[in-house]
Amino acid sequence: MTSLNSELIIDSDVIRHNISYIKGKIKNKSNFMAVIKSDAYGHLLEKLVPDIDDIVDGYGVVRIGEAKKIRKFSDKKVLLMQGVYSHLDLKRSIDLNLDLVVHNNDQFELVAKNKNFNNLWMKVNTGMNRLGFEIDEFMNIYNEYLCNSEFVLMSHLAASNDKSASSNKSQFKLFRSLSNKMNRKVKKSIANTGCVMNFPNQTYDWVRCGIGMYGGYLNDKNILTSMTLRSKIINLRKIKPGERVGYDGRALAKKNMLIASVYIGYADGLPVMIKDKTKVMINDQIASVFGRVSMDIVTLDVTDIKSCKVGDWCEFFSKKLPISNIVSANDLISYYFMTGVKSRVKKLYKTNH
Ligand SMILES: *Cc1c(COP(=O)(O)O)cnc(C)c1O
Repeated sequence: MTSLNSELIIDSDVIRHNISYIKGKIKNKSNFMAVIKSDAYGHLLEKLVPDIDDIVDGYGVVRIGEAKKIRKFSDKKVLLMQGVYSHLDLKRSIDLNLDLVVHNNDQFELVAKNKNFNNLWMKVNTGMNRLGFEIDEFMNIYNEYLCNSEFVLMSHLAASNDKSASSNKSQFKLFRSLSNKMNRKVKKSIANTGCVMNFPNQTYDWVRCGIGMYGGYLNDKNILTSMTLRSKIINLRKIKPGERVGYDGRALAKKNMLIASVYIGYADGLPVMIKDKTKVMINDQIASVFGRVSMDIVTLDVTDIKSCKVGDWCEFFSKKLPISNIVSANDLISYYFMTGVKSRVKKLYKTNH
């Protein structure tokens, strides 16, 4: 007998399905970079990479440790998406044959001295105001050092999920006008998942796709949730009108109710701010959160669930109950749920590949 635990089940076939679907949207002949930072958004990077290596053209990471893990399985392009911050990291990157983002002058100084290093992705700020060179600043560097080099010109969109956001238009416009000033060898990349889905003509040479692969892109029903977060019911009780459930008595019964306590809490990655009425799935039926999430327990209203008993699984998101459900009910983002699953949760990786 194994001990009871909350479980995260990852279905790599769903991820492969999502990748193929998103690739089908791309209008140009862009390369597909699978963004697998933060342990593949919680999808177990070391298991996933060998499973998708045949259908992607490269990988995007943020930490060198992640790049090192990829190199055990793949010789494809690996981009360190926030670049390096020390000589030691630069040396490690060269040893691992990484591509490097350069987003400011400090980083350019670090890499520029290294003449044999030419896998650079020069990041420009087109409006997000987070990382990247200002346009003038970049043109000075380009004219002085890079006008005959091969590199990738890159930028990042601030509101790619919102098709009508005016920032997209202005970011594309700036990026395009800058692209047109570059020599012909320069490649370009601006698209993340939202950009591929909403602006499939703006994909240039490389798309950098993360959330869509994992099913966290919410505006297309063909993209499926690839992780299941679930745990078991450990107690059932009846309560009467006027009784309250959980910390601070947040949930107040207005009728006779059946309350289930489930073996998962915020210490497993179920956020403490989950609201009452958020839908969950038990035996293919819909129940809802009733009471504040505790560290190790969440309470549910299962009054209307037929034949629900201790030991039954409760799913918080899955292929059947898309992550969009819990995301929209709580004004959160899918990235947050996926990367928030804690270490004590039992992780199961399913593959048929
Ligand atoms: C995380 C990241 C991406 C992936 O974005 P998604 O919205 O998950 O597709 C792309 N580019 C950069 C620079 C990133 O940091």
